[in-house]
Amino acid sequence: VFASLVQAPEDPILGVTVAYNKDPSPNKLNLGVGAYRTEEGKPLVLDVVRRAEQLLVNDQSRVKEYLPIVGLADFNKLSAKLIFGADSPAIQANRVATVQGLSGTGSLRVGAEFLARHYHQLTIYIPQPTWGNHPKVFTLAGLSVKTYRYYDPATRGLNFQGLLEDLGAAPSGAIVLLHACAHNPTGVDPTLEQWEQIRQLMRSKGLLPFFDSAYQGFASGSLDADAQPVRMFVADGGECLAAQSYAKNMGLYGERVGALSISDAGITASKEVIINIAGSSKEVDDFVCKTADVASKVESQLKLVIRPMYSNPPIHGASIVATILKDSKMYDEWTVELKAMADRIISMRKQLFDALSARGTPGDWSHIIKQIGMFTFTGLNGEQVAFMTKEYHIYMTSDGRISMAGLSSKTVPHLADAIHAAVTR
Ligand code: PMP
Repeated sequence: VFASLVQAPEDPILGVTVAYNKDPSPNKLNLGVGAYRTEEGKPLVLDVVRRAEQLLVNDQSRVKEYLPIVGLADFNKLSAKLIFGADSPAIQANRVATVQGLSGTGSLRVGAEFLARHYHQLTIYIPQPTWGNHPKVFTLAGLSVKTYRYYDPATRGLNFQGLLEDLGAAPSGAIVLLHACAHNPTGVDPTLEQWEQIRQLMRSKGLLPFFDSAYQGFASGSLDADAQPVRMFVADGGECLAAQSYAKNMGLYGERVGALSISDAGITASKEVIINIAGSSKEVDDFVCKTADVASKVESQLKLVIRPMYSNPPIHGASIVATILKDSKMYDEWTVELKAMADRIISMRKQLFDALSARGTPGDWSHIIKQIGMFTFTGLNGEQVAFMTKEYHIYMTSDGRISMAGLSSKTVPHLADAIHAAVTR
């Protein structure tokens, strides 16, 4: 009965690795995959993760029972704190509902399904370009996907004017997908001043922010700095969704561990100011209660989304994350290892830029050191990419995106030679 099926194409990103694996060349280089590699080109398990796993194995009281539908309670609380900030007014007022998700992708999908069922505006604006899975995740959840201008190929930077115009023209209430930091694939992020303008515009039009946070800590090396854009939107008391992934920042790719937090609208004024307005502190307490009630309703509906999809999430990855986040010493160790990964990527940017300068490769390559996070959007076109794959056995997505985390001091010269040959051909 399935004989008439059409062979589906490989995933455009994961398909790069399939092609790479088939190449017998000893000089082959995979810059397509968005996973961290060491200077030796090996996958990395963080020391702090190994230690957390050891603690879990040694704890004989641990069992393999099902988690609740929403996942591990400690993990959820700590994840919300990590992205929104420990002193977040939304967390303090119990305005946040958090569920464990299957890494970033699963958390985005649960958020999208929830919005498709319960939000009045079914249009989501995603940046152009964006991570290739975004349009599929949102469309299949039942949302209608539109794009807003984001990247300017001429400057290889942000098209801020275009972004403001497109969001300004979006229908009131529309959902807007924002990359919290280290935009994939461009490596181009707004400055904090630009974020503030985006926030003001979105709030003035009642646009609903849905943050995708797949690289917290990977952009600057600081977890707090990378969460700043999200925290600006939560601090103003408006609604906000955030999907988190621990794939990159804890190296837990295959554990599929992430979280979705939905912060309900609240009040920004201090308790004293509200008492002045409301007349009594009882009314304030009633208000806090009411908002906590919304979070509870949101959570109850998220459970209805999750239960028929995969029932409940896996326990191991979430236990590792919770073990690290709740122990201040392990948390500090994590930040040191995270910073080392971010720094190695920044050093690869510098080395590649220097190698191209040394070769006198035509063009301005300063975007390699200006762009942020795991990827460089090189500006190489599909034809040049195909040439580099055929002649130099270098694999990357056809849009010219290279993963800086897949490079090492040893492979930079090979890549620089290939880029030089591709642009001077
Ligand atoms: N969002 C973005 C922008 C990403 O780059 C990725 C990973 N490539 C994800 C979400 C999801 O990753 P995962 O499901 O592995 O956490």
